[in-house]
Amino acid sequence: MSDVLVVADHRRGELRPVSYELLTVGRELADAMGGDLRAAVVGGDVERFAEKLDCEGVDAVHTVAGGEEFNHDVTAAAVTALADAFDPAAVVMPNSVNGLDYAPAVATRLSLPLVTDAVALDYEDGLTVTREMYGSKVETVIDVTSEPVALTIRGGEWPAAEGVGDAAVEPFDVDVDESSIRSTVRGFEEVGAGDVDISEAEFVVSVGRGIEEEENLDLIEELAEALDATLAASRPIVDNGWLPKNRQVGQSGKVVTPKVYLAIGISGAVQHVAGMKGADTIIAINTDPDAPIFDIADYGIVDDLFDVVPELIERFD
Ligand SMILES: Cc1cc2nc3c(=O)[nH]c(=O)nc-3n(C[C@H](O)[C@H](O)[C@H](O)COP(=O)(O)OP(=O)(O)OC[C@H]3O[C@@H](n4cnc5c(N)ncnc54)[C@H](O)[C@@H]3O)c2cc1C
Repeated sequence: MSDVLVVADHRRGELRPVSYELLTVGRELADAMGGDLRAAVVGGDVERFAEKLDCEGVDAVHTVAGGEEFNHDVTAAAVTALADAFDPAAVVMPNSVNGLDYAPAVATRLSLPLVTDAVALDYEDGLTVTREMYGSKVETVIDVTSEPVALTIRGGEWPAAEGVGDAAVEPFDVDVDESSIRSTVRGFEEVGAGDVDISEAEFVVSVGRGIEEEENLDLIEELAEALDATLAASRPIVDNGWLPKNRQVGQSGKVVTPKVYLAIGISGAVQHVAGMKGADTIIAINTDPDAPIFDIADYGIVDDLFDVVPELIERFD
């Protein structure tokens, strides 16, 4: 009982980025616990997903057939059965809409303690899990005193697993009684149909209240275009109705993990930082040298955005 079982996340035919972060977490935990890393994927094109999940450090990939899209009853039954069969010390799931849907059911069925929304894990004298509370203003560290344990992890907090492994791909049969399936996904309707998903973007140009007026947004849009980046914003911009909700980065918006995050006229409030601190490189433009965004920025320009942005456009257009 020292293996770690991680459960990949997928939506509309694609593995979600958090799946690869789960593999990183799983490998770290499995090393600490002295066991194997088992990855599982339930539903969708499981064979294609299994190939992608076979990253460096993965010992086995378990595939469970189960419809095209996520289904609560199928996933809860499959993960419970996998845990019954392999007796892992930890079952690690994504803290996504899907993960939060089935993780409590799995934990209840297996009588496991469940710690959700982990942002850091440590395993020295037993497992400790760090979570954020009160709008990311406070960190709590939880000692998990019993094993096995169920966890959900926040996306964007760990690096994605890479490389190609040589894991055994093992189809796993779960007998799900049709009559036990009480809910199904009827379809998808994207918020702001046809708009981009900022959480998938590699380069995000994000704008905050420093922009002052709605018409000044054109300048930032022009820069985003010149840089081939995706436009996002802090909450006040969205609250003002200047950009749609699906462009909001942060605690009550989306979590983004781009290679580059350019924050323009954004102060760096904790609720904003909660959505972008996982970016590889953070660049900030702000007139205030004491703005908290500079505490996490890799590069900073202390200057007026209305001077800096036109120069950047000229340089990159
Ligand atoms: C429950 C809750 C949830 C929240 N969720 C979110 C969330 O998901 N996302 C989010 O972003 N916020 C969220 N907030 C709001 C958050 O607390 C901040 O109010 C918000 O992030 C501030 O946005 P801002 O940085 O754009 O504006 P401000 O804090 O007003 O910062 C504007 C910055 O622009 C700079 N500036 C001004 N003029 C210029 C100029 N000409 N050139 C360069 N810089 C300039 C200023 O120095 C300042 O640092 C939430 C709050 C609560 C209570």
